[in-house]
Amino acid sequence: MGAFYCSVCKQTTFSGKSHIFGKSHQSRLRVVLLKFLEKVKEARRTLKKPQVEKCDWTQPNQKFWCYCCQLEVDKNVTDGNTTVLYGGLIEHMATQEHRKNTHKFWWENRADQKLKDKVFFSEEETDRFKAEVEKVLETFVEKDDELIKQEAEVIRAQEKRRQEFLESLTEHEVELESSNDHKNANSCAGDAAR
Ligand SMILES: [Zn+2]
Ligand SMILES: [Zn+2]
Repeated sequence: MGAFYCSVCKQTTFSGKSHIFGKSHQSRLRVVLLKFLEKVKEARRTLKKPQVEKCDWTQPNQKFWCYCCQLEVDKNVTDGNTTVLYGGLIEHMATQEHRKNTHKFWWENRADQKLKDKVFFSEEETDRFKAEVEKVLETFVEKDDELIKQEAEVIRAQEKRRQEFLESLTEHEVELESSNDHKNANSCAGDAAR
């Protein structure tokens, strides 16, 4: 029996396959899978109601460790403006590669077969997810437009008030001027009468 590295226990063992059947490996595997499945469950919840957010550059790109593939994958997908939460995870778990690796992982670790199907996303599921994302993105953009419209409205109202204020000032000036003119005219008329 040679040495082999157990990615679940994160240690090298020399007991070969018997390590897999051991209590410590199996209990560690249960903990790992529970956390793993919890994340997948969260992602699955967004299938019918995708969560879209404005891109936040202050946040680091969130990663997800796939135990089956021994690979770090992006949890979300983003186009630079908007982020679809769990988009990356769902996409990854729908790939043939992930499916293949999961079968291998489950077999190698003697994991509970009942749990295996939970870490896959079918093509129908991802298709539906994409369609829902499209719908959400449309309303998301509309909402954005609505905000811009509202802001423009505020600016226009402010501009109008400023304009009115300026107009009232000039009117006032004109009034003053015209009353001066009037006085002058009167005095002229008075001069002429003399
Ligand atoms: Zn182990
Ligand atoms: Zn994977």
